[in-house]
Amino acid sequence: MTFDRFKHTVLVVDPSANNRTQLCECLSQLPEIQAIAAGDGAQAMRLFRERPPSLVLLDISLHDTDSLALARDMRHWECTNEQDGFASWTPIVFLSAVMDEEVLARGILAGGDDFLYKPVSEIVLLAKVRSMLRIVSMQQEIHEAHRQLKEISRLDGLTNIPNRRYFDETLAAEWKRCIRTESPLSIVISDVDFFKQFNDIYSHQAGDACLKAIATSLNESLFRVEDMVARYGGEEFAAILPGTDSDGAHAVAERMRRSARELCIPHQKGVGGLVSCSFGVATIQPSTHDTPLKLLQAADTGLYAAKRAGRNQIKLACR
Ligand code: GH3
Ligand code: MG
Ligand code: MG
Repeated sequence: MTFDRFKHTVLVVDPSANNRTQLCECLSQLPEIQAIAAGDGAQAMRLFRERPPSLVLLDISLHDTDSLALARDMRHWECTNEQDGFASWTPIVFLSAVMDEEVLARGILAGGDDFLYKPVSEIVLLAKVRSMLRIVSMQQEIHEAHRQLKEISRLDGLTNIPNRRYFDETLAAEWKRCIRTESPLSIVISDVDFFKQFNDIYSHQAGDACLKAIATSLNESLFRVEDMVARYGGEEFAAILPGTDSDGAHAVAERMRRSARELCIPHQKGVGGLVSCSFGVATIQPSTHDTPLKLLQAADTGLYAAKRAGRNQIKLACR
């Protein structure tokens, strides 16, 4: 069967081949749906994991697996397979031949959302499916909005590179990862030289444009996917270089220094008449006895040494 990713998939779970065929034929009247079917719990769970459906129609009288246990397994799988920190919720509608309040209550507790009693008229089935899919569509919109908000909350509004919050989160995560993998972690902190005077001479708007260009040039100086550069403060940027030793970090900082310089942004009071940045580099083997703060402080010490030494240069700390 070929899948259309723009259609809702409905998973029909019923031990009777006749019932499965009838239900799927009925569902095929809705053009926005593609139905898939399973005759037992194991097959149902496999399909649920491999191709998460938008809706499950689950017969309560499943032979091999208790259908309530299957519903619980589906809920458990959803909770443990979050995407972007968002757990999905697939509506589960039980189909039952007997009207039993106790069974209904237990089905809802197991994670079911509704009950339909057999024989189910086509009109009722399709109406119920439509109403459930409407909720699914709304859930998908919320999921997408959540994903976009999360992305926005990680970016700096001016430069469009990661912001300080995302930098702090990433540094904490990389610190732990480098402890586990016993690999070094480097930080490069950079600061635009004589930037107050740049604003004073050329305006704040020109200052903003300069910061955007520098952010892009620093970002483009990183080649590894695990490296990242963030806007650390006003005119300060900081890069995290996991698994990079001191020599490697110095080489990256030199690429960053040169690429900012090669923007050739004129600055009357700058070094050699152009905008430049100074850099502090620090490397550490993360351990549970230290914190990322130590690494940041060391890189900061390097930065101030670079400023004192005349700017537009790199100084290493923690060698
Ligand atoms: P130094 O070479 O020692 O770093 O000198 P500096 O002038 O760059 O340092 P200082 O800390 O005195 O000034 C930083 C300036 O950066 C002052 C502040 O107005 C400017 N700045 C910070 N954030 C922004 C921003 O978002 N846009 C603009 N245009 N300017 C900013
Ligand atoms: Mg500064
Ligand atoms: Mg500065």
